[in-house]
Amino acid sequence: MSHTYRLVVGGELATAASGETFDSIDPSTGEPFATVAKAGSEDARKAAEAARKAFDEGPWPGMKGRERAAALLKVADMVKQNSAALAELEARDAGHTIRMAKGADIGMVISTFRVFAELAAKENDEAPLARNPGSMNYARYEPIGVCVGITPWNFPIQMAAWKIAPAIAAGNTIVIKPATYTPLTTLEIGRLCLEAGIPEGVVNVVAGSGAAVGEALVASPMVDKVAFTGSTEVGRRIMELASSNIKKCTLELGGKSASIVLDDVDMDYAVDGALWGVFFHNGQVCSAGTRLLVQRSIADPFVAELTKRAEAIRVGPALDPASDEGPIVSETQLETVERYVGIGREEGADVLTGGERAVVEGHDGGFYFQPTVLGNVKSGMRVSQEEIFGPVLVIIPFEDEAEAVRIANDSVYGLAGGVWSGDNSRAIKVAEQIRTGTVWINDYHMINPRYPFGGYKQSGIGREHGEFGFNEYREIKHIHVDLGGPSRARHPWWDLTVPKREKPSPPGPERPGSKPSG
Ligand code: NAD
Ligand code: MN
Repeated sequence: MSHTYRLVVGGELATAASGETFDSIDPSTGEPFATVAKAGSEDARKAAEAARKAFDEGPWPGMKGRERAAALLKVADMVKQNSAALAELEARDAGHTIRMAKGADIGMVISTFRVFAELAAKENDEAPLARNPGSMNYARYEPIGVCVGITPWNFPIQMAAWKIAPAIAAGNTIVIKPATYTPLTTLEIGRLCLEAGIPEGVVNVVAGSGAAVGEALVASPMVDKVAFTGSTEVGRRIMELASSNIKKCTLELGGKSASIVLDDVDMDYAVDGALWGVFFHNGQVCSAGTRLLVQRSIADPFVAELTKRAEAIRVGPALDPASDEGPIVSETQLETVERYVGIGREEGADVLTGGERAVVEGHDGGFYFQPTVLGNVKSGMRVSQEEIFGPVLVIIPFEDEAEAVRIANDSVYGLAGGVWSGDNSRAIKVAEQIRTGTVWINDYHMINPRYPFGGYKQSGIGREHGEFGFNEYREIKHIHVDLGGPSRARHPWWDLTVPKREKPSPPGPERPGSKPSG
């Protein structure tokens, strides 16, 4: 515990106003391994003020898109240079296996900064522009102002990039609050942004609780937009708090996504795929395919093979390159997973494999759970409806595509899903009927910063990534430049106190184009 991680506020690395700190736990061991400045509502206020000042008085919002793009590319390069240290920090703080941290997290962070650099460089090139009869009309993108990003514990460094990159690419400033279990890599990204030369106050990071720091930020009148990733329950609270000054909100919330296996599939391929869909990062993934819908004619052999392979998954410490799965993020989350397996049993589900804490030699204090498969599940059961956020798969057989679609859509959530089939056109027909923001065909978890990601129904509002995601961080302004002469002549019905002409001009011919309205 050599090092205390500090907050990033207004260009400074800062201790908390209260002087307090908290420990961050390594879930592989259950032991504290780092000390972090513990922000409170006072630090939230300071960070929001710094972001406000940087937006209202600083150079960032007025800089050319190309200049902002260069700064984002610098951040991407610095993440690349520091990739080994960042990956290890994520593994220790959040329990990401080192393989996943190196193989997935860091690459996604770099490409997110690069893609939004590209979009920033395009700036207004693609805003609509038209010369109409009598007027020239154009639209122009402008930043929204001060953004707040609030992120969950499952993908800390990726979520930091998903919030920071689009916000600052568009010319906004941001205060980001990571989850208390996993603050370290977000604090590091904030520090790297400073080192990359992003002006003070543009990126601020405050680590502290949702109740103190999160609420203070979301309620702050200095803030214009909130981008939240987390649970649906907290998302509801965010909307309430954001309503005070009508903050723009994007919400990426929970999920209970269906992975649908059609009977014409290559079994070997789809068994692996279904396992990847659900057990990637222990199922602590909002879009995880936690409901496996298998066509009844192939269900028995499919589930038998899947169960066998699930048993071969190696659960172990995050830093061990031999581990396929690391620990669950925290003791509390481990208890939640355990509780849900109990609920499933009470509801009549069969535990086909797993269902218990995993024992990892030499790591008794770690938070490990066995990959778990529950059979004999009905769609109405709680284990099929509620998000568990752990390595628990439920299996539901179906007769035909219509039934698969009905079960898949029997959810308050609508985040993602997968279809596995040997016939693309058959898979596409199913995919198009699933009421979710993303459907993968013959793969899973493929997220690309160029394409939109987000939820239908209670999985959220708005999209992240690509032009769609970029627009959530921009205002669009319409500018009308009239070329048609004096107003009085053009709006003859507008008869006010202005002195009349001798001979009022007759109503003109119907003018195409814009009409006064609103
Ligand atoms: P959470 O909702 O408890 O917390 C998320 C963040 O919100 C944390 O930083 C937390 O401190 C903060 N927070 C909590 N209460 C707050 C309040 N009253 N005001 C402001 N901020 C508050 O979620 P979690 O347990 O960290 O993460 C797991 C959840 O996140 C799951 O439900 C999962 O589905 C969801 N998730 C969704 C996506 C997505 O893209 N849709 C991605 C990752 C995680
Ligand atoms: Mn931690």
